[in-house]
Amino acid sequence: MKQLASYVQGEFRKGTGEAMTLVNPTTEEALATVCSAGLDLGAALQFARDRGGPALRALTFAARGKLLAAIADSIHSRREELVQMAIDNGGNTRGDAKFDIDGATATLTHYAELGARLGERFILVDGEIAALTRNPRWVGQHVNTSRHGVAIHINAYNFPAWNAFEKAAVALLAGMPLLTKPAEATSLVTHRIVEGLVEDSVLPVGALSLVCGSAGDLLDHVQRQDVIAFTGSAATGVKIRSHARVVSESVRVSIEADSLNAAVLGPDAEEGSDTYEMFLRELAKEVTQKAGQKCTATRRVLVPRDRLAGVERDLVERFTQVAVGNPAEQQVKMGPLATAAQLKRVQDGIARLGGRLATGGDRGKVAGTKGYFLAPTLIVVDDARKVAAVHTEEVFGPVTTLMPYDGTSSDAGAIVRLGGGGLVASVYSDDEKFCEAMLREIAAFTGRVYFGGEKVAEHAFGPGTVLAGLVHGGPGRAGGGEELGGERGLHHYMQRTAVQGYKPAVERMTDSHTRTV
Ligand code: NAP
Repeated sequence: MKQLASYVQGEFRKGTGEAMTLVNPTTEEALATVCSAGLDLGAALQFARDRGGPALRALTFAARGKLLAAIADSIHSRREELVQMAIDNGGNTRGDAKFDIDGATATLTHYAELGARLGERFILVDGEIAALTRNPRWVGQHVNTSRHGVAIHINAYNFPAWNAFEKAAVALLAGMPLLTKPAEATSLVTHRIVEGLVEDSVLPVGALSLVCGSAGDLLDHVQRQDVIAFTGSAATGVKIRSHARVVSESVRVSIEADSLNAAVLGPDAEEGSDTYEMFLRELAKEVTQKAGQKCTATRRVLVPRDRLAGVERDLVERFTQVAVGNPAEQQVKMGPLATAAQLKRVQDGIARLGGRLATGGDRGKVAGTKGYFLAPTLIVVDDARKVAAVHTEEVFGPVTTLMPYDGTSSDAGAIVRLGGGGLVASVYSDDEKFCEAMLREIAAFTGRVYFGGEKVAEHAFGPGTVLAGLVHGGPGRAGGGEELGGERGLHHYMQRTAVQGYKPAVERMTDSHTRTV
């Protein structure tokens, strides 16, 4: 069986130890193996620092932006092949696969355009030039320059294209080489994209490295100018953040982790209204897209107490209409979970959540015993404060919990906050006073607040779609990290420095007087 090679020190190399087998989660057939044992990951990082770093720092933002456009073209030219791999290795429907792959391309394109706008420069100015005394000659200016290390990207299994290449886009535009490590179980797509980039000779030598297999001793080799960006579970995030070498070298770390995202139905959103229909439609999408294996999927649904029964009825109807099965078949809208281990984790999680099962909880109408299927699952909890697990247990599958609040923003806000910090919370209401009150209740606990209502019902993408121009990440449980957000994302890979000196010289050095963005 084919072993997916890693791409380190400018060439594809295979590991030599025990390999992990990648499986088709629909048929349970083995697809390939991965193994990173025996690879010199310290040497891989040093090669990136020595070769990739200088090559990228020699390029302006505009030139790096052109590299990103070329990466997007390379991915797009293999779109059909990648879609098929995501179906085979990830249990994705075609729609799920396109969401991942086109998400990567769209983010690369966003940052390619930002590169063009930033233009022929190497330094980003930050804020206004500041007079430091009464004499206008002597001034200060903050600037950002590329860090001289490697961006180490450790990714979750659910978005092998988007997760890897949204991070890559930002690091490369900021002038940092990267080493990307996809989760082992679904690494086929990331591997093929990197293979394509090498075939197409898109990037300077050392700008991009790939480790297929476990992280091994990777973190033992990090250095002070390196940056780690991690996406995955909170438990792994803690291990990375507290790794002895990461701590001793003060390595910059961004953690994107678990999130118990909430959706709140406003008291004004009556049955049959556009806003209520949007709430139902988007909930069904968030819970079933990628079989619920989305960090932004809605895990907690809050509705006014007198609406609980009606919403339960309508959600059960929507969930049971979803065609679950072999994702290669066109009429199927939801495939299996990605691995046997993930199915087991979800089943155990459902048991720990408690509450009343309104629908789902088993493989439903899917025939046979093969494949890691779980029907869309709705759990109802009658008192949100009595079942602690619904605010602490992220069940990473097509599972959500419905619970009542007393119809006030203060009660809804307090329940949302029990989640301890999340990536996104959505509020469905056309009552601006209620919306503003909710914003003040939950913004400090939430990376993104999404307002659904009749005015945007036909335009919005749903709370689960991460957009390159807005920050992604959240406080507390969600890891405290921040990615993307247009130019903001670059700062994670750059060093901010205060520059002091003679005003015209500072202006010329930093080029701040001709800044275009
Ligand atoms: P995971 O088990 O934490 O693994 C994530 C990555 O970390 C994998 O590449 C894994 O490699 C690696 N890893 C594991 N132990 C490590 C260690 N000691 N040192 C260095 N790397 C290590 O998470 P997952 O099951 O793949 O993903 C699901 C989780 O990701 C969910 O909790 C979900 O909420 C979260 N997620 C968050 C976001 C976000 O943006 N906030 C986005 C997507 C997913 P191996 O594959 O080799 O174990």
